[in-house]
Amino acid sequence: MSAPTANPTQKIPILDLKPEIASIREELNAAINGVLDSTHFIMGPNVKAFEQEIADYLGVDHAVALNSGTDALILGCDAIGIRPGDEVITTPFTFFATGEAVSHFRATPVFIDIDPVTYNIDVNLIESRINDKTKAIIPVHLYGQSVDMDPLMALAAKHGLKVLEDCAQSFGAEYRGAKTGAIGHSGAFSFFPSKNLGAFGDGGMFTTNDPAMAERVRMMRVHGAKKKYYNETVGVNSRLDEIQAAILRVKFKHIDAWNQGRREVAARYFDLLAGIEGVIAPTTMDYATHVFHQYTIRVLGGKRDTVQKKLEEEGISTMLYYPVALHRLPVYANAPHGPLPVSDQLSDEVISLPIWPTLEADKQERIADAIRRAVQG
Ligand SMILES: *Cc1c(COP(=O)(O)O)cnc(C)c1O
Repeated sequence: MSAPTANPTQKIPILDLKPEIASIREELNAAINGVLDSTHFIMGPNVKAFEQEIADYLGVDHAVALNSGTDALILGCDAIGIRPGDEVITTPFTFFATGEAVSHFRATPVFIDIDPVTYNIDVNLIESRINDKTKAIIPVHLYGQSVDMDPLMALAAKHGLKVLEDCAQSFGAEYRGAKTGAIGHSGAFSFFPSKNLGAFGDGGMFTTNDPAMAERVRMMRVHGAKKKYYNETVGVNSRLDEIQAAILRVKFKHIDAWNQGRREVAARYFDLLAGIEGVIAPTTMDYATHVFHQYTIRVLGGKRDTVQKKLEEEGISTMLYYPVALHRLPVYANAPHGPLPVSDQLSDEVISLPIWPTLEADKQERIADAIRRAVQG
């Protein structure tokens, strides 16, 4: 009997945070204990330091820590001046929060179809949908790969539009050497636990080089007050907790190595999946430094759901990001859009595979083998 290289009954989750936490457990304990000892839980030194560290890393003048990525999008929409009746161009192939932020202002998300190669907004389709009401564009760097930002920024400049980058999935990703979140007029990041840089709870960040926008978001996150108890407008409570900031500062020191780990895992997937008929691996663009928040393949021939079911039977978890494009949700039944055939097709074909920075090769071999058998069977 030969020794098995992998335990075939061992479950493989879509994301395993345990090895990451174990590798920095002492640092985390010290950081959390430091906050407990200080009893400074809100708007303390960790939030301030974390904002500066992120601003320096991204190469932006201002980073404002918030309670979630959703709030970064909502307060970002407020800061770029979205008002009732405005139109905001974005992708339907994203998490709900991207469109939701626009709708919060009784403005209208205008959904543009995606590029079949990158799954990001098809920049070539944007200009025909710009009109007098168009105020902004929200590109989403889906799965950790940057949108083609040069032509998008050129369009924005030509038509006087503001750009708010949705960087929830792209922390550390680059476009032609510039970090996402530092290319548009503003950026929105999420530190949801499963994101590449994840807290142990909710968290987010707004980024910009515009001092007026930064000041607006800083004021809005504390009830519309620049000075406590001298409220100037109706804001919200959207602060990042000190404990989360302390945790994020520890994790931030490792993010480049972790993103590199994800790229290595992705490289192995590319090798393992090559030649499986009916499976299309993701494409990494020359302009992008991908951070593989997700490794998402397409399964052709209407077999995606069968493949997911068969993998699940073998203990391999996968996720569908996203099974329903936003224009197909009842809440957006009346949103204006033309046909969005690529988004519709991709919603039926995409499946995201397990990925984290230290995912082992033997697990990936088991996953690829299961996929091969599932598409052939
Ligand atoms: C996660 C995510 C968000 C929302 O971030 P939260 O921190 O969960 O509010 C927004 N947009 C995209 C594309 C996301 O993946």
